[in-house]
Amino acid sequence: MSPTPRTPRIAIAGAGLGGLVCARVLQLHGVPVTVFEREATPESRSQGGTLDIHQDTGQVALRAAGLLDQFLGLSRPDGQEWRLYDRHATLLRHDRAGKGDLSRPEIDRGRLRTLLLDSLTPGTVRWGHCVRAVTPLPHGMARLHHHDRAVEDFDLVVGADGAWSRVRPALSDAQPSYAGVTMVETHFDDVDHRHPGIARLVGGGTMSAKAGRRSLVLQRNSNGHVRAYITFRGPHDWDAGIDLADTEAVRARLLSQYQGWDESLLDILRDNEGGFINRPMFVLPVPHTWQRVPGVTLLGDAAHLMPPAGVGANLALLDGAELARAVVDHPTIDEALEAYESVMLPRAVDNARTAQRMLTALMPDTDSGDAAFPDALWPAGALSDARPAHTG
Ligand SMILES: Cc1cc2nc3c(=O)[nH]c(=O)nc-3n(C[C@H](O)[C@H](O)[C@H](O)COP(=O)(O)OP(=O)(O)OC[C@H]3O[C@@H](n4cnc5c(N)ncnc54)[C@H](O)[C@@H]3O)c2cc1C
Repeated sequence: MSPTPRTPRIAIAGAGLGGLVCARVLQLHGVPVTVFEREATPESRSQGGTLDIHQDTGQVALRAAGLLDQFLGLSRPDGQEWRLYDRHATLLRHDRAGKGDLSRPEIDRGRLRTLLLDSLTPGTVRWGHCVRAVTPLPHGMARLHHHDRAVEDFDLVVGADGAWSRVRPALSDAQPSYAGVTMVETHFDDVDHRHPGIARLVGGGTMSAKAGRRSLVLQRNSNGHVRAYITFRGPHDWDAGIDLADTEAVRARLLSQYQGWDESLLDILRDNEGGFINRPMFVLPVPHTWQRVPGVTLLGDAAHLMPPAGVGANLALLDGAELARAVVDHPTIDEALEAYESVMLPRAVDNARTAQRMLTALMPDTDSGDAAFPDALWPAGALSDARPAHTG
């Protein structure tokens, strides 16, 4: 074990939510850090839909980053509203957030990322820098291999580079595998004027229509933007024989899978704007752990990619803040990693098991039955003012 120099050299691979909050908390405590991000600019890619940030995980991280009040100012507590329909568009359940309920307010992912980016010292993120690999060195250091074949040595390299992490192989042989469920994403703009039917279905938050191994999910983002996730259990090659860039061909294939669903729900497949984005679900094995390697660790999806059960971004934020605190609070990187991984790894295993159970319950391997949504899995369980089901 090596003594950590007074000012450790720290690199983070990946400027997602987890990597950015880690960098922010380190900087708040005077620890220098560089973030290497493969995308060329902050605007290179749409950052995706809306996230609910939980009081006991994501919000804890944002408080540690000194950004909780700004987050709450940008968030949408009304977005906690939840509706469940069956495939006949019968409303089975409808929960709304009570007044002042901040247990899991929604925020557009892009807004949260911008909040974190703007909180960093200018120049912290090196855009257009793809990390190729990391190799542990003697004396607890780690060598970062840049895309252009240059190398740089650090006291700590943090893999915050998501599902297909290039840092992970320094710690584990695990590879993500297909979870048997695919989400196809599309969107609607200006729903309240252009798509009143979609606006009615989604209300102010999220709706899910479910039957057997299929569901249709809508999530309201800010400014009348709604994301749709057409989700089904099926083979990875459900799109065999069609070109995913051919919107009409994808639409026809999807419509053939949702025969018998109410016309108002089929509008989600028929009236969307832009094309369809294929998002097969990949997961890491559970449990995914490793023997500690000096100078290298992982956080977020790089450490524990799991089905999207509403916790992945929250855990990435919490991991990032806790890792940074561990570095600040311990005299050596070795001790910091011991403290961080001994809490993060078991927590990740517990959450991944729950997410797997949710996926199996919500997306059974059968087409029989309508909207089964076990109460224990009701995602808005924390909402106050839960209302009895209405129909119609
Ligand atoms: C459709 C969908 C909906 C979801 N909804 C929710 C939700 O409501 N709530 C929730 O909590 N979670 C949700 N999740 C999960 C959540 O998105 C992830 O768990 C979360 O983004 C993980 O954050 P991260 O920082 O670990 O990784 P990421 O957000 O994946 O960030 C990784 C970063 O690393 C960069 N990178 C990758 N490779 C390299 C490299 N080699 N070199 C340099 N940079 C690299 C990437 O460009 C990216 O910027 C959802 C996921 C999906 C797919």
